[in-house]
Amino acid sequence: MEHKIIYLDNNATTKVDEHVLEAMLPYLKKYYANPSSMYSFGGIAQRAIIEAREQIREFVHAKSSKEIFFTSCGSESANMAIKGVLASEKTKKHIITTKVEHPCVLNLYKTLEKEGYKVDYIGVNAHGDLELEELANAVNENTALVSCMWANNETGIIFPIEKISQIVKSKNKDTKIFVDAVQAAGKIPMDVQSADIDLMAISGHKFHAPKGVGALYVKSGTLFTPLIVGGHQERGKRAGTENVPYIVGIGKAAQLAKEGLVHEATEVKRLRDKLESNILKTVFNSRLNSGVANRVPNTTNIGFEYIEGELILLHLSDCGICASSGSACTSGSLEPSHVLKAMGTPFTALHGSIRFSLSRFTTEKEIDFVLAVMPRIIKKLIKISPFQNKLEILKKHKTHVN
Ligand code: PLP
Repeated sequence: MEHKIIYLDNNATTKVDEHVLEAMLPYLKKYYANPSSMYSFGGIAQRAIIEAREQIREFVHAKSSKEIFFTSCGSESANMAIKGVLASEKTKKHIITTKVEHPCVLNLYKTLEKEGYKVDYIGVNAHGDLELEELANAVNENTALVSCMWANNETGIIFPIEKISQIVKSKNKDTKIFVDAVQAAGKIPMDVQSADIDLMAISGHKFHAPKGVGALYVKSGTLFTPLIVGGHQERGKRAGTENVPYIVGIGKAAQLAKEGLVHEATEVKRLRDKLESNILKTVFNSRLNSGVANRVPNTTNIGFEYIEGELILLHLSDCGICASSGSACTSGSLEPSHVLKAMGTPFTALHGSIRFSLSRFTTEKEIDFVLAVMPRIIKKLIKISPFQNKLEILKKHKTHVN
């Protein structure tokens, strides 16, 4: 039977908002001129970029729109920030990051380690909260950069960026702070000035703009070397003819996301909480992987002990439900999530963890449908689990606790 799609994988990507598409279309169909051209036709495209830059400035609360640079995605923004700052800093070779960053940051640090940088990876506790004391102890006079995500893509856990930058700057005022805000954008308010951030990456496709456009905030006065060299676009910091329709799209998406923050914090959160609490109540082998940590309103990561996450996903998919597992399939072997591992998630739940991520388009009916099918799916998978005796013990224990 064909099912309607119930899309609960919004941390992977989001659908393009109709209003965003509408704003973009004239720049695909009609106003196609190169924004750098001298004639007034090109000026239309140039003005659209100026407006989008202002929309992003307002979204992140930057002081000036000159601090906003358009890129192709979150990964490019992160690479541009990290490589750009380090290329301008000739002597300091120490970087601090966290164990739970996105691969676009972690894999870059692995290559920088080979180039002679010393990278410290700060851990998290069982709730996923960053070990702030460990961070404070790691900062020294040689620390060029501290790189930290605002919200985690797998668990939704929020790091206290303002506090982190206070700790770092009090130890070394010259250390630059780069924040990967790809999963925070559109979910919680962001203010680069009050958080005292030097560089910050966002990605349009995580907040209802299309895939293929991102932005980077760079505080004015921050020295950074461009990643892509060529023409004079983006004030010489990112060469390449501007992707005008997509820049218009991310600008419009940012405006809508800013306006929607209250809805996110109330309605999206209400539906997420309903989904989460009902699964935890009705499925005896379920556990919340984020504990009591502060989280973005749209994300829940639930571990189902002694069953395989991939099997749950396949059964959900048969019902038209899109979610994702905490583990990634790497070169044929199922690697458990580095984020859940860093949190010390028990082995019994590591392989059976599922992330549901909602959006402003998620409806109550969809959540009710997931809640109706979920216990049935888990019951079926429990029956074929090779860990029957462990499940029996868990069931007794849970019943006893309740
Ligand atoms: N940072 C985080 C936290 C992410 O979740 C992602 C994408 O999932 C990225 C960076 C990379 O963004 P993009 O896919 O736009 O390159």
